[in-house]
Amino acid sequence: MAELSVTVIDVGWGDCILVDSQDDAGKHRYGLIDCNDSERQRTALGFVKRYFERQGRNWKTIDHNFEWVLLTHGHADHARGLKEMMRTFGTKHFWYPKSVASTTYGLLLDYANRSKNVVHHQAVDVSKILGPPQVDFHADLEVLWPNWNQIDDNENNNSVVLALTLGDASIVLTGDAEAENWPEIVDRLPQNPTYIQIPHHGGRNGLFDPAGATPLLDTIRWRKTRLVMSSHVVPHGHPHPDVVTELSNRRFVAYRTDRNYHVTLTTNGDKVRVGYTHVSGRLPQ
Ligand SMILES: [Zn+2]
Repeated sequence: MAELSVTVIDVGWGDCILVDSQDDAGKHRYGLIDCNDSERQRTALGFVKRYFERQGRNWKTIDHNFEWVLLTHGHADHARGLKEMMRTFGTKHFWYPKSVASTTYGLLLDYANRSKNVVHHQAVDVSKILGPPQVDFHADLEVLWPNWNQIDDNENNNSVVLALTLGDASIVLTGDAEAENWPEIVDRLPQNPTYIQIPHHGGRNGLFDPAGATPLLDTIRWRKTRLVMSSHVVPHGHPHPDVVTELSNRRFVAYRTDRNYHVTLTTNGDKVRVGYTHVSGRLPQ
């Protein structure tokens, strides 16, 4: 049976999200979004190795284990571990937004240009189609942001927002796209999204615009929508208390990597289940 599984790995602070798509014949295809591993701490790399090995995948003998790798934006807490991920596992596609130049971003593009571990790479925006036949993946991939040829001085706002859809279930991954962009992005959201990543790790500017409005939350009318945050409690104080209060007032269920450890959502396109580990003993709120 076809299945889509998304794991927000608890990497302390930053993002690393593993996507596992299984077709009706049980064949797996993998995607990866961001990685904040440093040279001395390879938390996500170890997680992915074990994930492959538990599935019986002999990853060392396979040139390109990832069908695609996506960099949401050029900040170090999303970008600095991706080179080692691609060097270790290989990828057929590497996608990234047009970006305010940063050293990390430049080094990644330089690596993609010269390494045989990356077959194809390109900048993406809402004008790009990421589906078959170029990309072999058993779930639809749709870029909701950024707009075509748009580069913002605030790198967070260059974040790629990606919707993954299998059957009636959709999962929206948001990088650090700030609230001022969401009035445009929400018009492109799938209907009744099953699972949405709270932007910018629950930072105030991810949900609240300068006037205090919450354009993303205001559009989520489906009570079954679940939320997840890759929290940055240390050192950035994310999620912001105002975000936690707002989610609680609206009775959203929100999973947080600082409280729930690795958070995995799995769907067969109809039913959805969420797996996580409590590390604090407290229920998600
Ligand atoms: Zn970030």
